[in-house]
Amino acid sequence: MNYDQARYGDDDRYEPLLSEKDTTTVDVGESSPLPDDLTRDSLELPGLSEPELARHYTRLSQMNWSVESGPYPLGSCTMKYNPSFTEDVAADPNGAVHPDRSDGTVQGTLEVLYGLQDSLARIGGMDAVTLQPPAGAAGEFTGILVAKAYHESRDDDRSEVIIPASAHGTNFASAAMAGYDVVELPSGDDGRVDLEALEAAVSEETAALMLTNPNTVGVFERDIVEIAEIVHDAGGLLYYDGANLNALLGRVRPGDMGFDVMHYNVHKTFATPHGGGGPGAGPVGVTEELAEFLPSPRVREREGHYELYDPERSIGKVHGYQGNWLVLVKAYAYIARLGDSGLEDASAKAVLNANYLASQIDYDIPYGPFHHEFAATAGDRDAADVAKRMLDYGVHPPTTKWPELVPEAMLTEPTEAESLDSLDDLAAAFDAAMADSDAELEPAPSKTTAGRIDQARAARNPRLSWRALGEEE
Ligand SMILES: *Cc1c(COP(=O)(O)O)cnc(C)c1O
Repeated sequence: MNYDQARYGDDDRYEPLLSEKDTTTVDVGESSPLPDDLTRDSLELPGLSEPELARHYTRLSQMNWSVESGPYPLGSCTMKYNPSFTEDVAADPNGAVHPDRSDGTVQGTLEVLYGLQDSLARIGGMDAVTLQPPAGAAGEFTGILVAKAYHESRDDDRSEVIIPASAHGTNFASAAMAGYDVVELPSGDDGRVDLEALEAAVSEETAALMLTNPNTVGVFERDIVEIAEIVHDAGGLLYYDGANLNALLGRVRPGDMGFDVMHYNVHKTFATPHGGGGPGAGPVGVTEELAEFLPSPRVREREGHYELYDPERSIGKVHGYQGNWLVLVKAYAYIARLGDSGLEDASAKAVLNANYLASQIDYDIPYGPFHHEFAATAGDRDAADVAKRMLDYGVHPPTTKWPELVPEAMLTEPTEAESLDSLDDLAAAFDAAMADSDAELEPAPSKTTAGRIDQARAARNPRLSWRALGEEE
């Protein structure tokens, strides 16, 4: 008896994955034994009791910082607390179905995917959504490929994508990977898109402008309607980087601002964990004209029946199956629990918290009014030194030295999840870290498990072995 039979018995939802007629003989020859140097005769495993093991992993978890340790105001990343009920939903054994099962046997799974496509489309003001891309950056790449397919379908060859200099690095990479030349747009004096510079940059070569709004210093691009007009008049499309959607939830929709394509970072806005770089999800929404180019498969509903289908002129697959299913389930659960009023409340508190925190700290903040995040400057101090010192005050520091528009930037996003008390603690740590003189103190951080690491060396020569700190390899 296989797993499905065990679960479903003779239930008509059970359908064998491979019927006899599906099986083919694959000629891979005789299996050969592994070479001697790759096999072993015995394996020594440590004989640990359950408490020892539990303590080991709990201790390891305490050596790290997480949203469950305290505030994590990493600007642009939206490190909001992930409510644990979403984990319960994702852990439901009924969600563990093989992705190759036929549509008729996974109606519940497809209904959830369909519901999420639909909710995201409504939230973004888009007409169609694919859930497949596994991250925001993958969503950007997908969205730009969709834009490219759209232009090509109209025999309109365009070679450039315009991106503000203050944009996230992935925007430049996504456009370049899709084969476009990147035209960098300088920011105006107030940190927003300079309309004259944009007018000068657009041409019949413009395939798209990629923009996030509020932008990377938290300032709303209030000329967005004119920006959309300039790009559309030149025949280009407007791409929305959804990383800052947390500021707008339930209030303004990228589709209504004139955006044609967007990605959603569900691991930012919709409270699913960032989890050490993955897995996440970066669904992509588009307007009706672009829907036929979305990745396949998508989910649709016909007379109460859900089915997978391939959009007519799809760019193909960008990930396995429907994407990172369990991450998507968490986003679905979060959106369903909050509803319209909860989403609106989240964006209100995200903006209120950022503005409250900014009002409580003694830092210069060059650009505003800002929304859910602000870029403070460390002034004469090295932003990294101040940030490392904040760790000694028991809080996680903000994003440092980005965007470059602000010298020694400390891009701060407290999120809606923090209480007044926790914002006050955070403010106290900001000011204390700024006031400390590095010359008189131990190098920061001095109270964390690992001290100041050489970031360049850590990135180029990572040591990923299990050995304890200080032990020779
Ligand atoms: C996080 C982020 C991205 C990329 O998203 P990932 O999910 O990390 O790939 C793109 N743009 C901005 C502004 C971001 O903050």
